[in-house]
Amino acid sequence: MRVLLAASECVPLVKTGGLADVIGALPAALAEVGVEARVLLPGYPAVMAALQGVEDLGPPPGADATLAPGARLLSAQAAGLDLLVLDAPSRFDRQGGLYENRGIDWPDNPERFAVFAQTAAGIARDGAGKWRPDVLHVHDWQTALAPVYLAAWGVDTPSALTIHNIAYQGRFDATLAPMLGLPPAGYGQGWEFHGHLGFLKGGLMAASAITTVSPGYAREILTPAFGLGLEGVLQARRGALHGILNGADTAIWDPATDTALPQPYNAQDMAGKAEAKKALQSALGLAPAEGPLLGVVSRLTGQKGIDLLLAALPGHLARGGQLALLGTGDADLENALKAAAQANPSRVGVRIGYDEGLAHLFFGGSDAIAVPSRFEPCGLTQLYALRYGNLPVVARTGGLGDTVIDANPAALAVGAATGIVHEPGSATALDHALQRLSELWAEPAAWRAVQVAGMEHPIGWGSSAWQYRRVYEGLLRP
Ligand code: ADP
Repeated sequence: MRVLLAASECVPLVKTGGLADVIGALPAALAEVGVEARVLLPGYPAVMAALQGVEDLGPPPGADATLAPGARLLSAQAAGLDLLVLDAPSRFDRQGGLYENRGIDWPDNPERFAVFAQTAAGIARDGAGKWRPDVLHVHDWQTALAPVYLAAWGVDTPSALTIHNIAYQGRFDATLAPMLGLPPAGYGQGWEFHGHLGFLKGGLMAASAITTVSPGYAREILTPAFGLGLEGVLQARRGALHGILNGADTAIWDPATDTALPQPYNAQDMAGKAEAKKALQSALGLAPAEGPLLGVVSRLTGQKGIDLLLAALPGHLARGGQLALLGTGDADLENALKAAAQANPSRVGVRIGYDEGLAHLFFGGSDAIAVPSRFEPCGLTQLYALRYGNLPVVARTGGLGDTVIDANPAALAVGAATGIVHEPGSATALDHALQRLSELWAEPAAWRAVQVAGMEHPIGWGSSAWQYRRVYEGLLRP
């Protein structure tokens, strides 16, 4: 079976979020279950610079030449991935962010991602060279129009659309629709969304299957609190909606082989974890303490519940705990965190910035990891925490609730518990969860049992790759 994964980001070439991690990891995971996947990417400078073995396949099929004059479809390899690339310099060869420049969206984003989606649909219709996909699998609003084009062109290649975060919907002025080649019939019940042109909305209406990145998030986005206006569309398409968890890349995230740690460790021999804790405390200027060292590696935005953590911090410190935080984002959160560190320099260590290497030391050196998100489609840091023997303290939302088993008495009794789960959006609930963390810390045998259960919890792509295969098979044999 052949699948075209069309996406606007892919690790290690271009990344703004978890979408890139998924696209970078999925081809190898799918290959393990007998699915041949190729990735279609826009020809951003960082992508073009990395290409090897380039073959020019000519003008991209399906792409309107007036939207991207002189565009070419390339076949190439980069970073071990088998790629197709839309080389459209007028739309993608520019310095700045993938979607914005200095915080302002590129004004031609509708044209950029419409022509990219047209190319994805064109490959699903005509193939790329000799290669023709059986299924087109698109991701987020940037590629969501591809199923709309397939339907408009009367092409019956099946499509799947994955929602990585429903907060990003690709909403534009409806008067752009004719220029983007969208059928007028889409006004009313197709791509039209509250009087606007909705890229994601159109894709949700037209895709043969819809997936999102956890079973919990698949349930939540059917409700107004999480669906952000798209819950009605999703309810109408409920039968086509699947929740499939993201995996983590266990070649990169493994304490037994992680060169960013002072000494490797595993569930049987945890000496290296104590060394990593000392190294992290020393890097942040923290003194040894009797309570657990709580780590956080996160974007600093309202979604992530860092304000709740600040509110629950005094209680955690009063119980002898410490906090180590690595993150970047909203200025007011950054300032409040810096102030907390200044007020308690031996107990609270804060690093503002994005630092992949330091993140590894945070996972190796912390005793627990807090993820108090208000919503979380899947979440990766709780998966790394499990693997590195940190107890995840997570809000019961989206993928967090699907991946951590709360250390309640029943789960502790059967050895199933892997962390602590609390109600989302409440500083009081987080404070209570941190209190439970301290109580568990005071019982080393119980703590160790939870730690080992977490380290043995599978966090890779294996099961999810099978689930994607099952979705594709369902589309080919309806
Ligand atoms: P989201 O995609 O919403 O940011 P995820 O938990 O799915 O949340 O993925 C976040 C990823 O980014 C994780 O791999 C995490 O380790 C990494 N990350 C977040 N902030 C930082 C930071 N300041 N430095 C290094 N890595 C970070």
